[in-house]
Amino acid sequence: MLIGLCGGICAGKASIASYLIEQHQFRRIHLERTAATPAVEKSASNAYVPTSELGSTSAEHAFADVDALLDFVTLRWRERWVTTDIWDEKVVDALLRRPFFLLVSVDGPLSVRWERFKARCTNKQLTPPTLEEFVLRNDAHLFAPGTGLGALFQRAQLKLLNSTTSILSLHSALRSLNLPNEARFRPSWDQYFMQLADLAAHRSNCMKRRVGCVVVREKRVISTGYNGTPRHMTNCNEGGCPRCNNASRAGVDLSTCLCLHAEENALLEAGRDRIGEKSILYCNTCPCLTCSVKIAQVGISEVVYNQGYMVDTKTAEIFAESGVQLRQFSPPREGLVDLSLIPSSEAVDDSVATAEERKHMKMISDVREILDDENFIRPIIR
Ligand SMILES: [Zn+2]
Ligand SMILES: [Zn+2]
Ligand SMILES: [Zn+2]
Repeated sequence: MLIGLCGGICAGKASIASYLIEQHQFRRIHLERTAATPAVEKSASNAYVPTSELGSTSAEHAFADVDALLDFVTLRWRERWVTTDIWDEKVVDALLRRPFFLLVSVDGPLSVRWERFKARCTNKQLTPPTLEEFVLRNDAHLFAPGTGLGALFQRAQLKLLNSTTSILSLHSALRSLNLPNEARFRPSWDQYFMQLADLAAHRSNCMKRRVGCVVVREKRVISTGYNGTPRHMTNCNEGGCPRCNNASRAGVDLSTCLCLHAEENALLEAGRDRIGEKSILYCNTCPCLTCSVKIAQVGISEVVYNQGYMVDTKTAEIFAESGVQLRQFSPPREGLVDLSLIPSSEAVDDSVATAEERKHMKMISDVREILDDENFIRPIIR
């Protein structure tokens, strides 16, 4: 696998890369810059900041372009590789095509990143930038026309918010997050079918709730469905169902509703013969009572849902009695993951670390602080 880390100045890219190297047997891989260095990257502090031994690039694992890098990793994709050299859109396009690649972005509050940067400058006896200078650098780094990297970060499959204040708490959060989990690279069957159900829900025209459904038999999709008014009738969102377009509360006046439910549409589409004995119905919402009895009657063997609905208990009773398995599955949440909010299971707590451990961690953290933005610093030593 190859994990690409991208993110703002002092967001923590290199700290995460070092964590992966030390704790998960990753190896660092480098990519030469693909374009002229943006002026803003020339110096973080308008002064030379030396890199560390630990940051030295092994020629063996440095590549002139992304294709050469990919050729190398493709032959070794079962090994673990990490890079922070996400330079531009072309690099991201090429990497994201591959099934062994995961793009992770890391960001942090501007004020926190400024504090980290100041600490780094102070360590190196350099004059730290003012907040205003740092804001301007940050803006140029992310938003400069043509060279700003902000848009790339939005394409990350996993987005991390790193406002942690110590390397210990960062490690503890990363440990709980388990970045190398293979499920991040390729969805499980449950995740795959639930995402298809979510996609179907996007076609819904019902004013009340977007519901999507997929009927699957032996891992093959038999039919899909979403809720809305029947064919040839005006769509619900164009006024087709007076009940849905009135502010009636959920569950009230259901008998006057003209909208077919997603499950009904999927079952009608599949037909009883094709459903057979081993079919599973995936739905983004737990089926209502009237759908439940139809699901039971048509011979579905298992129902997997994501979000609950107000009659879940009653639905569960119907399924239990009729021998249909009912199971909730929620795909991993998308969007920003705040590392400071991740509950740590086997956390290395600051308060219990020995003095020796603290000293060691401080030393590693100081080195990493320098490495953290080696991308940012490297150009001035060329
Ligand atoms: Zn409707
Ligand atoms: Zn309706
Ligand atoms: Zn229903």
